[in-house]
Amino acid sequence: MKLFILRKSAAIAAAAVTVLSAALGIACGGMARAQAVRPPVIVVDAGHGGVDAGVRGKNSGVKESDVNLAVARKLAGYFNQAGFAAVLTRKSNGGLYGLPVKGFKLRDMNARRDVIERCAADMVISVHQNAFADGTRRGAQVFFYPGKENGRRLAECIQRSLNGTALGDGKQALAGDYFMLRCTDAPSVVVECGFLSNAEDEELLLSEEGKAQAAYAIFAGAAEYFSG
Ligand SMILES: [Zn+2]
Repeated sequence: MKLFILRKSAAIAAAAVTVLSAALGIACGGMARAQAVRPPVIVVDAGHGGVDAGVRGKNSGVKESDVNLAVARKLAGYFNQAGFAAVLTRKSNGGLYGLPVKGFKLRDMNARRDVIERCAADMVISVHQNAFADGTRRGAQVFFYPGKENGRRLAECIQRSLNGTALGDGKQALAGDYFMLRCTDAPSVVVECGFLSNAEDEELLLSEEGKAQAAYAIFAGAAEYFSG
């Protein structure tokens, strides 16, 4: 734990340096040359929420939506500590759909897209947890939109980083057709931190330490993307 914290603060400081160069790149790359340099805006999306709990923990019954929110909050904290500007799509256990009546899922997804557009996101990270009928399947899995090169590179950075944690299972980033990947031109990934249908992953994701490690690995992978 102590080693994790030490490595963590060193890497956050290193990432803070890359924020400045990434911010300069954004300012010079767009028409913002005369405008003030702004830090990269990272939309951190906690998947599901409210009546949509997502999948459930096999042994604990924990809601995926709650695990997603806890990991997303930690992840946003790491970004902000390093000087990025993190924006959470949701900050509570509720969904973004208004009333849970007909069409709520579409309204929920559109509200997430609106957040991305409103803050002109430079990166989108959607946090989820996986589940599968076969309880032996485990490990972090990152998705990018097929054919989107920036998303693929980001997904590979985050996948590599997660593979170095207890949640890693040697998986490779995969293409996937998800709303959060196709609703923006910014590099966007869906991160399935682990399988709540697997006892080992579930135990890790129920612990504060496991959630912190997942969040930190996602942050470190994203920071690597900006520095590359
Ligand atoms: Zn999910």
